[in-house]
Amino acid sequence: MRLVILGPPGAGKGTQADSIIKRYDIPHISTGDIFRENIKNETELGKECKGFMDKGLLVPDDLVVSIVQDRLSKSDCQNGFLLDGFPRTVGQAVSLDAELDKMGIKLDKVINIEADKEILVERAIGRRVCPSCGATYHIKFNRPQEEGQCDLDGSKLIQREDDVEETVATRIQVYLDQTLPLINYYGAQGLLLNIDGTQSIDAIFDQIVQELER
Ligand code: ADP
Ligand code: ADP
Repeated sequence: MRLVILGPPGAGKGTQADSIIKRYDIPHISTGDIFRENIKNETELGKECKGFMDKGLLVPDDLVVSIVQDRLSKSDCQNGFLLDGFPRTVGQAVSLDAELDKMGIKLDKVINIEADKEILVERAIGRRVCPSCGATYHIKFNRPQEEGQCDLDGSKLIQREDDVEETVATRIQVYLDQTLPLINYYGAQGLLLNIDGTQSIDAIFDQIVQELER
């Protein structure tokens, strides 16, 4: 399974990605997670990304593309992968196609999770994440067993710095301007799997599996 999961911020990409990678035993490649890890570890890359991310803007294509190229060349990607949050621009998608071509492989499907702005804002603002293991919760829709605490390792949950209303609004606009054209791009390649993201987490996962295994 060589998959991309696409959708606006807060649509539920990361949540579905966690279940998809378990079912198909493939690595989860989230460019957002890679950047946040680099910011946490104060790497050079982290310093370069932080300003863009804090404002809700995209990190420049050249930085992102080389990271993904590097990651895809690792041996654990040989039997498949799930790209989450990449590509996000047509330029990134073209680079990805060129890279996959070089590797002699193709994407199997692009899962596109759709939801409207009101839902996205509520989901993103209520999102809480575990700073140690990255698990994602929601204060209303996906609560941890103990309030404010990760079910998996007990860490105190945090809110991402970019999950505040104004930055979320910017990110949604950036998605509309720069990422939405990918729907046509992948639609033209016959790869698109459109999923109604307003359903429950479980219903969305069931639908994705059904469509992938059809
Ligand atoms: P993305 O990776 O697309 O930004 P996430 O998977 O992190 O989105 O989900 C955003 C927030 O919405 C999280 O708090 C998550 O728990 C919650 N969430 C995800 N999917 C659903 C859903 N189908 N219904 C309600 N809440 C959801
Ligand atoms: P979400 O989908 O919930 O908005 P991500 O974790 O995927 O969040 O991304 C967070 C931020 O990381 C983005 O707002 C952007 O600044 C940066 N980022 C992640 N992936 C990319 C990418 N492929 N291209 C450019 N910037 C990216």
